[in-house]
Amino acid sequence: MNKRELLTIEHLTKEYAGRRRFAGKPSPAVKAVEDVSFSVMEGETFGIVGESGCGKSTLGKCIVRLHKPTGGNLWFEDEGEKRDLSNLGKEESFRLRRKIQMVFQDPYSSLNPSHSILESFDEPLRVHGIGNRSQRQEKIAEMLRRVNLQPDYMFRFPGEFSGGQRQRICIARALAMEPEMIVCDEPVSALDVSVQAQVLNLMRELQESLGLTYIFIAHDLSVVQYMSDRIGVMYLGRIVEIADSERIHQSHLHPYTQALMSAVPVPVYGRKQERILLEGDVPSPVNPPPGCKFHPRCRYCMERCRQEEPELKWVGEGHYVACHLQGKTWRAAVQATNFPESLGKRL
Ligand code: SF4
Repeated sequence: MNKRELLTIEHLTKEYAGRRRFAGKPSPAVKAVEDVSFSVMEGETFGIVGESGCGKSTLGKCIVRLHKPTGGNLWFEDEGEKRDLSNLGKEESFRLRRKIQMVFQDPYSSLNPSHSILESFDEPLRVHGIGNRSQRQEKIAEMLRRVNLQPDYMFRFPGEFSGGQRQRICIARALAMEPEMIVCDEPVSALDVSVQAQVLNLMRELQESLGLTYIFIAHDLSVVQYMSDRIGVMYLGRIVEIADSERIHQSHLHPYTQALMSAVPVPVYGRKQERILLEGDVPSPVNPPPGCKFHPRCRYCMERCRQEEPELKWVGEGHYVACHLQGKTWRAAVQATNFPESLGKRL
């Protein structure tokens, strides 16, 4: 059976206006997300990876409509029809809000410390008119069981739980709304490594049993690879490479993805891999470099890269890369950039 395209993002842009000052010029606008396009199929996990400040969380917040995009469209399939999330009426917006939930990075600030778990769960259910009080309580108990917590925990307060338990509670709260899609923004990065694995495995089990679709945002490529069917790599507000998870692992073509991949440990005794160290920080989105935004840190940078922004080009089945070196042979690329042949073979 063909799966439907649940979410389609077309040329999404999010720009924050500069602050007005009492005197002098206002500070310049910041483009946090620029011309991002991709689609997410029903039941898949689409991973978004990139350094801090690359715009991945802003993208997630635009998808759940916590932030309003300044350009582009977000199409969500609902009851057989595509609806533009960036242009919904009040009623439709309220109804669709339930279908796309978000799990945030910090489980400590996601729950109100003065509300019991029951109160935190009950409010959104009540607002959306789901069941009467006892039915809602039964539902909350069931959701807590699903995330391997005891139902009577609903009478406790967030301060009584560990970080891992709180994140399970946040996942259960998102599930209580019966969503079709969950945007997970760095859901395990605030947790200990041992707890991370438990939460990731739980999320995978829930996806299988409930047929959920995830957008999984993280800065750690190994975690994103473990969770995702397809991956989009973001750099300074743009997607620079998209491919399925296996293909990104085997044949990562963008120099930025290569650097991220080189930081992923190889679990094979005696096998070493060359570590690519990127120099400098991600440039400020207030004043991004001209041409390819990665050029100040790219070891293959050519004159063309400083002037012309590369488009996201098709390079193979479901694989897209935004780099001027694509389409060249690795030898031509090495000659053009004067780098050792062993490095050029990756391109
Ligand atoms: Fe590097 Fe040029 Fe490709 Fe940008 S376009 S990633 S600077 S080679």
